[in-house]
Amino acid sequence: MKVRQKFLLLVLFLLSIVPAVAQSVPSLRVNGQRIMQHLQALAEFGKNPQGGVSRVAYTDADRQGREYATRLMRDAGLDVVIDPAGNVVGSRAGSDSSLKPLLIGSHIDSVPEGGNYDGDVGSLSAIEVAQVLTESGTKLRHPLQVIIFQNEEGGTIGSHIIGAGFDDKLLNIRSQSGKTIREGIQFIGGDLSRLAQAQRPAGSIAGYFELHIEQGGNLEQEKIDIGVVEGIVGILHSDVTIEGFANHAGTTPMNQRHDALLSAARFIERVNQVVTSIRGRQVGTVGWIRVQPGAYNVIPGKTVLGLELRDLDEKKVEEMFTRIRAESQQIGALNSTRFSFTDPVLSHPALTDKSFQKLIADTAKQLGLSTKVMPSGAGHDAQEIAKIGPVGMIFIPSVGGISHSPRELSRPEDIEHGANVLLLTVLNFDKKN
Ligand SMILES: [Zn+2]
Repeated sequence: MKVRQKFLLLVLFLLSIVPAVAQSVPSLRVNGQRIMQHLQALAEFGKNPQGGVSRVAYTDADRQGREYATRLMRDAGLDVVIDPAGNVVGSRAGSDSSLKPLLIGSHIDSVPEGGNYDGDVGSLSAIEVAQVLTESGTKLRHPLQVIIFQNEEGGTIGSHIIGAGFDDKLLNIRSQSGKTIREGIQFIGGDLSRLAQAQRPAGSIAGYFELHIEQGGNLEQEKIDIGVVEGIVGILHSDVTIEGFANHAGTTPMNQRHDALLSAARFIERVNQVVTSIRGRQVGTVGWIRVQPGAYNVIPGKTVLGLELRDLDEKKVEEMFTRIRAESQQIGALNSTRFSFTDPVLSHPALTDKSFQKLIADTAKQLGLSTKVMPSGAGHDAQEIAKIGPVGMIFIPSVGGISHSPRELSRPEDIEHGANVLLLTVLNFDKKN
C-alpha cells in the first residue's frame, strides 16, 4: 500500500470512530463549586479549633450533620427516610419498576479530631449526582438510592446491618460517643423494633458505587487522577505472647538470660522481613506491645504484642502468618523464650466487581482522566454492601496521604473529577444494565 492510501484509510477510520466516541460521553457534569460549598457548610457541624471536625457517630454534631444532609437530599428531589438501622436513605424512582435499585453514597461521621473529606466527599457528591439528574430532568431506568451510612468509623455499623444483619453483641458495643450502638440507633432516629427489616437480602440491589478519598499517598505521588479500587483488604489480627524469665538485670550474665523483650524486638524485625520479602502490596505491622514487669532493673519476663497482616488475597495473608509463626520458633530457641499465638481473627477481603472496575476506568478515560487499579488498605461501607450485590469504588488523591487528621485535604479539582466520574458511571451503568 502506498503512503497516501494508508493516510486516506487512517482518515476514514478516524472519521468513523470520532462521532461514536463523542456521542457515547454523556454531557451532564456536576457543579464542583456547589459541592465545595456543601463541604464547607457540613464542616460547621462538629468543627474544632484544629481546623477539622469531631463529628463522632451518635453525638449532637452527628445528628446536626445528618439533618443538614437530609435537607440537601430533599432539595435534590430525593424522597428521604431513615431506615430502621438509622441510615439516611434518599430515593428517586426509575422508569423501569422491574429493575433493582442502584445505590450510591458514603458516610458523614468522623473519627475524633478527624478531617472534612473522609466520607463527606462521597456523601455530598452522591447528593450532587441526584441534584444534577433532577435539574436536568434526567430519568434513569433504575431506581436510585443515595445512602448516608451511620457510624462508619465505629466499625461500618449502618452498612453492616444492611449487608449482614445484627446481633446483641453488636448492639451492646459501646461506641466512641459513650452510647451503645443500640442507644445510638435510637438517638439518630432508627427503629429498634423493626431493626431486622434494615437487612437487605443478597441480590436485592443492582449495585453500589462509592466515591472516597484515598487516605494514602499513592495517587498524589504518581500524579494519577482516579483510583479504581479492586477490593478492600482482608485483615488478620493475632496476639503474640513471648514468655522468658524475669531476673535481676545487674547480676544475670548476658549468656544466661531469657529476655522476652529481646525476642520481641527480633520478632518485629522478622515480621517486616517476611512481609517485604514477597512481591505485592501486602502490609504487616506490630502496633502495640506490653512488657512485664517493666522496670529498669528487671530483665523482661513476658511480652505480649499485636500482630496485624493485610492483603487483598486471603491466602497470602494466611501464608505470611504461617511463615511468621515458624520463624518465631527459631527466635525463641536463640535465648530460650517461648512464643504462643492466639487464634487469628480474620476479616475477609471484599473484592469489587470486575465489570464495575472496567466501567469506572472507561468512564474516567472518557473524561480524560488518568486511572490506576489499586487495593484499599482501609475499610469502607462498600465492603459490607458487597455482601448483597456488586460494588465499585472510586478513589481521589489525598494531599500528602494524610487522613483521620484535621490536615486531611483533597483538592477541589480532584473532588470535581471524582464526582463527575461517579455521575457518568451511574449514567453509563444505567444505560448498559
Ligand atoms: Zn471513610
